[in-house]
Amino acid sequence: MRKTSEKRKMLARKFSKTKKRSNNRNRARVKLARVNEQIANTRNDFGWKTCLALIRKYKTIYMENLPVRNMLKNHHLAATITDVSWSDFTNKLSFKAESAGGRVVKVNPKNTSQKCSRCEEIVRKTLAVRMHRCPHCGLKIDRDINAAQNILIKGIGSERPESTPVGDEATTDGISPKQALSMKQEAPCNSLG
Ligand SMILES: [Zn+2]
Repeated sequence: MRKTSEKRKMLARKFSKTKKRSNNRNRARVKLARVNEQIANTRNDFGWKTCLALIRKYKTIYMENLPVRNMLKNHHLAATITDVSWSDFTNKLSFKAESAGGRVVKVNPKNTSQKCSRCEEIVRKTLAVRMHRCPHCGLKIDRDINAAQNILIKGIGSERPESTPVGDEATTDGISPKQALSMKQEAPCNSLG
């Protein structure tokens, strides 16, 4: 996708340099339109394939209810979020899940990346810190896995009939963290320094 985006930029530059109403301009316009279509197709294809793979594997998918608009203001994340067309992707996922008898449950994203999924203490870290290292309980795991565990705990907690607050009894033992989908996994590594 990045490669095609580079190509698109290059073609757009070329197009802007051509003379108005010239043959060169027309040719450049057609090339640019082709690349735009290619980008849209790749995005769409990737979206459907990823949805299908997830839905075949999991009946319930817990995911953060993310304010995409705010996240686009963060230029580190913006390129990646638009690359996957995040809101379009979540719509596809909900739609596919429903038609396959599964479902997508959105959870509040508050503290999902900062909280320790084992002891529930807050462990502050910037986006550049990729490991979750808890000084309270010693848990040391990838930050995305930690966030995914928290999303899963929140999701399951929110669905309990008595809706008791998630406490000691909520354990993630035996549950694959992959069942929870963390948007933060999509964060671009190259912008993290
Ligand atoms: Zn901990």
